[in-house]
Amino acid sequence: MPAWTGLPALAGWLWIADGWMRRRGGVPCLTWHSVSADASWLPWAAETSVRPETLDRQLSQLQRMGCTAMDTAEFIRRRRACLPVPAETVLLHFDDGYLDNWVAAAPILRRHRMRATLFVSLEFAAPDRPAPLTLEDTSWPDFWDGYLSWGEIRALDRDSPDKVFDVQPHGVDHTRVPVGPRAVGRLTRENWKQHAWMQWAAMRGSKHSWYLPEAPPAVPEGTAIPESDAALAAPAFADGQLETRAEYTARVRAELARCRTEFKARLGKAPVLFCWPQNRTSSLARRIAAEEGYLATTAGQGCNRAGEDPAVISRVHVGENTAGFASAWVDAWHFHATVRCFQGNAYWYLVILAAGFSKAVHKRLRARRHRSRQRQEAHRA
Ligand SMILES: [Zn+2]
Repeated sequence: MPAWTGLPALAGWLWIADGWMRRRGGVPCLTWHSVSADASWLPWAAETSVRPETLDRQLSQLQRMGCTAMDTAEFIRRRRACLPVPAETVLLHFDDGYLDNWVAAAPILRRHRMRATLFVSLEFAAPDRPAPLTLEDTSWPDFWDGYLSWGEIRALDRDSPDKVFDVQPHGVDHTRVPVGPRAVGRLTRENWKQHAWMQWAAMRGSKHSWYLPEAPPAVPEGTAIPESDAALAAPAFADGQLETRAEYTARVRAELARCRTEFKARLGKAPVLFCWPQNRTSSLARRIAAEEGYLATTAGQGCNRAGEDPAVISRVHVGENTAGFASAWVDAWHFHATVRCFQGNAYWYLVILAAGFSKAVHKRLRARRHRSRQRQEAHRA
């Protein structure tokens, strides 16, 4: 076959591949958790927290990219009505209800005139403070740790011209359940905060101060850590057997219904969105959520395109130190790539892959340095 007949075929294949790599229409749903200058009180801070200046930079970047934040409930209503959504729409989410969302995230969002959805877990709300904070107070360094109180959640959710958060539920206790008889380890003084769900599951009522004690407050050191999954995503294993489908259904329904009732009582509104803790759910749990009146829930694997199920919200976590080291420049490229990739331009995935590779290498190097330091110390001792 002459070479020239192959060229048009190659060009055709490249054209088709390029079309596949640049499918437009995705609506990025960007998710943050803690926004703090020092979130070291959170055992998972390294993965989930960003500094206020990082959030500020990311929101400025969205504006430079031509993106506009839309309220998620409004977005879902449009999708359900098959109404068009403006190009470059983004959705902003903040999970878990950390107090630093008031101290740092709210003023930054207000400055950028952007609106976000805040997902709170009922049993993590802090008691109302004796001297209530006002929205203008943003300078108490002692108050950065911990969780929002209902008074603060109400103030953030209250409809006003500069409202920045629409508050929606993130479950009752954010916990996990054992899913089998196998143990994956034992609780120690060092690891119990990484497995905090075991404490949360055993603590009755409010858990806002679970992280304060040195020793585990509810389940003692030495207890076996069972294999587990997010509580609403799987049937629980107890007394040698798994929950039946009917028992699992009843448990999930009760939690979704309690969130509805408590939101009506505390915020005077029925929630319309539900954020599955740990981004895990099941098709049965999604069905129950729809029956309980939720318009949409999280943990999707798509891109929020027209044509996808409007009852499913797909999200991506955004953080910092994305290549395993502190660099505002690298993080800005990673953030840009995350947004463009979600919108449908898969070429940007190369940047995300490169950052992921660098992060993995840095993690290995750090672990090796740590091991060699331990060996040296043991040798000296
Ligand atoms: Zn969460």
